[in-house]
Amino acid sequence: MNETVVKIENLVKRYKDLIAVDHLNLEIKKGEVYGLLGPNGSGKSTTINSMLSLLSYDKGRIEIFGKEMTPVSYDIKKKIGIIMQDVAVFDELTVYENIDYFCGLYIKDKETRKKYVNDAVNFTGLNDFLKFYPKKLSGGLLRRLNIACGIAHKPELIILDEPTVAVDPQSRNRILEGIQELNQNGATIIYTSHYMEEVEQICTRIAIMDKGRKIAEGTKEELKGMIKNTETITVETDNVPDEILKKINSLSHIYETEQNEDKLIIRCCGGKHNLIRVLNILQESELNFGRVYTELPTLNDVFLEITGKALRDREE
Ligand code: ADP
Ligand code: MG
Repeated sequence: MNETVVKIENLVKRYKDLIAVDHLNLEIKKGEVYGLLGPNGSGKSTTINSMLSLLSYDKGRIEIFGKEMTPVSYDIKKKIGIIMQDVAVFDELTVYENIDYFCGLYIKDKETRKKYVNDAVNFTGLNDFLKFYPKKLSGGLLRRLNIACGIAHKPELIILDEPTVAVDPQSRNRILEGIQELNQNGATIIYTSHYMEEVEQICTRIAIMDKGRKIAEGTKEELKGMIKNTETITVETDNVPDEILKKINSLSHIYETEQNEDKLIIRCCGGKHNLIRVLNILQESELNFGRVYTELPTLNDVFLEITGKALRDREE
């Protein structure tokens, strides 16, 4: 069994009457890319900030690298790289100077520091922008600078809080690939996001959060195995007559239909040939319809089944 890097026991953080983190338990092992997935306001950033002792909390115990984490645990902090949700760099320093500053907080040897800064520059692809000031950078480049500052000292544990928000697709892919590379080079990663496809793409284990609580945890396969949905069939069509809906609903292994503006969504639980049986009904009925496609469950389906509401994705 791999050693435990982070252990959170019974963490509670309140803001007046609001419970932002509600009796949370987490255990993260060395080598994981651990995802915290949840909608805005579900308590991801509060968890991260409490975990790092950047925020005081009401209850609970946090251990990192086997030692209790406190605001003065500098020996632990040295081994952690933090990329906050809100970009935190100095506007009056250039790209190079920013990375050098953050690296210098932990790396005192001059030669090593220079090498590490260059590694971070190469890694984030900021070579052409070293003399730029942060204000002149696009959203994607600014994020990459934020990441370079967080990882330059080669931390063993890297925590990224929503690092792809307001980032163009090209930079986003680069960031996701970069995180996987850091993991392959030995770092343990904690990654928060409200984008389920990103979490699916890179995380080895995922905690789904809602209202400060962990509502499910596992690999993406395990999470999808927890729900009854096995397949969702979508038919592009507007306004399906009630009698056809009834027929579809009466098929075995179909537990729910939902009529949106221009789509009929049919949710299946097991069984074979669901698509063919639906198509037969549609064809018999002489209904006008466009594309028909089936999809395997997503983490959104997991969230939907547990909470009764959708986890919004990509477009806000
Ligand atoms: P997430 O990172 O998942 O979007 P947050 O941890 O930022 O969620 O927020 C969790 C909850 O705590 C939200 O309801 C948010 O409004 C509330 N919250 C966060 N920070 C504060 C604060 N400084 N004061 C009061 N409420 C806060
Ligand atoms: Mg947040």
